[in-house]
Amino acid sequence: MKVIIVGGGIGGLTTALMLHARGIDCELFEQAEGIRELGVGINTLPHAIKELQQLGLMERLDAVAIRTHELIYTNRFGQEIWREPRGIDAGYDVPQFSVHRGRLQGVIHQAVRARLGESRLHTGHRLGDFRQDEGGVTAWFFDRNGSHRRTVHGDVLIGADGIHSHVRGTLYPDEGPARWNGSMLWRGALDWPKFLTGRSMVIAGGMAAKLVVYPIGEGAREDRPLTNWAVLVKVGEGGAPPNKEDWSRPGRFEDLMPHVQRFRIPYVDARALIEATPEFWEYPMCDRDPLPRWTHSRVTLLGDAAHPMYPVGSNGASQAILDARCLADRLVSAEHPVHALWQYEVERLPPTAQIVKMNRGGGPEGVIDAVEQRAPDGFSNIDDVLPFEQRKAIVRGYAGAAGFAQSQVNKAGKAA
Ligand SMILES: Cc1cc2nc3c(=O)[nH]c(=O)nc-3n(C[C@H](O)[C@H](O)[C@H](O)COP(=O)(O)OP(=O)(O)OC[C@H]3O[C@@H](n4cnc5c(N)ncnc54)[C@H](O)[C@@H]3O)c2cc1C
Repeated sequence: MKVIIVGGGIGGLTTALMLHARGIDCELFEQAEGIRELGVGINTLPHAIKELQQLGLMERLDAVAIRTHELIYTNRFGQEIWREPRGIDAGYDVPQFSVHRGRLQGVIHQAVRARLGESRLHTGHRLGDFRQDEGGVTAWFFDRNGSHRRTVHGDVLIGADGIHSHVRGTLYPDEGPARWNGSMLWRGALDWPKFLTGRSMVIAGGMAAKLVVYPIGEGAREDRPLTNWAVLVKVGEGGAPPNKEDWSRPGRFEDLMPHVQRFRIPYVDARALIEATPEFWEYPMCDRDPLPRWTHSRVTLLGDAAHPMYPVGSNGASQAILDARCLADRLVSAEHPVHALWQYEVERLPPTAQIVKMNRGGGPEGVIDAVEQRAPDGFSNIDDVLPFEQRKAIVRGYAGAAGFAQSQVNKAGKAA
């Protein structure tokens, strides 16, 4: 069996490692000239980290990431709405990692190169077309100038080519552009003084604007970790995005700073943090409606190509990793590759479609939206605004759907 993987993001690279671990031959094709460590912070949840641990990557992940200790939801004044331990501190046997996306991708990429060898990894190869018949799949790859580079034949083709997936666009030519929800996400990272435990993730604000801050790795000095920030603001009504959703589009201070004034978090000076960031990026919050099918005989979709979702709830990379595990398991055990792809879809499409829909409702962050709606100017007792059980229903309901629910104990000793 030979598998063609299109896309060298976290989803495609993890798929390559998973297939290799099961003795399945694969080749990966990435359109970019090299695998560059792009992006800023992401979180990877314990159930996905467990998969990376089984691939033997734990030590290298620990070297580049932060073991997230806790997640705190607050209003825009820093008043606490919800606090819960995360990862090992919540009782899992593996951590949740806060990490620079590029460094995470780098760890997986290095492992692919070392285990599969350079000959299985082709950068500068953009998928232009593919065809399939009863005997297999043929894919044509081109360089950035449109010159043909290679024609490849395999048994199966996996489209792990992100939110702008060419594979998806070929399978669903009438789907149209991604859906924008009217919110803009600005993101950046820089070395910044440690706050709270040094491993805390804070999500503050509400419907009008949200601020997310957490450390994602070592900085140049021990007391100043590399710290990720993101500001999410409703700036339009949605529909077509104001510019093409591109993770690497630079943001502008004049667009962002007016929204930052509203935050007064006692332990993080949001304004100073953002003003000190030399470069940052903007991304319109886009997703796509869940598809009825990913698998079309010998071709299927994985990661953002299959289920692009709003980047809330720490699920983008995590779900791509879970897809990779499932697909590799099905390919190694099924009698025919077409059955394997179908079984993979049956297992993975329904839960990821549910996360896409839940993220549209704000995901677990809906808890701060609900509090802001009821108490926009702050509160003296959170339980008078939104009782504990209702806060719990929002946050834990999401965790259950995303597959990482676990009985946890929060700092106040309450079961969360
Ligand atoms: C540059 C970049 C920066 C990002 N930054 C963040 C961030 O800061 N925070 C966050 O939450 N998420 C970020 N994401 C998204 C996040 O990485 C994904 O949601 C998640 O990791 C799932 O990854 P994926 O592998 O499915 O898709 P992606 O990470 O999007 O990877 C898809 C890959 O496919 C390649 N590709 C696309 N078309 C073709 C083609 N025709 N032929 C060959 N290769 C192709 C792309 O170049 C890309 O490398 C970023 C994605 C990218 C590409």
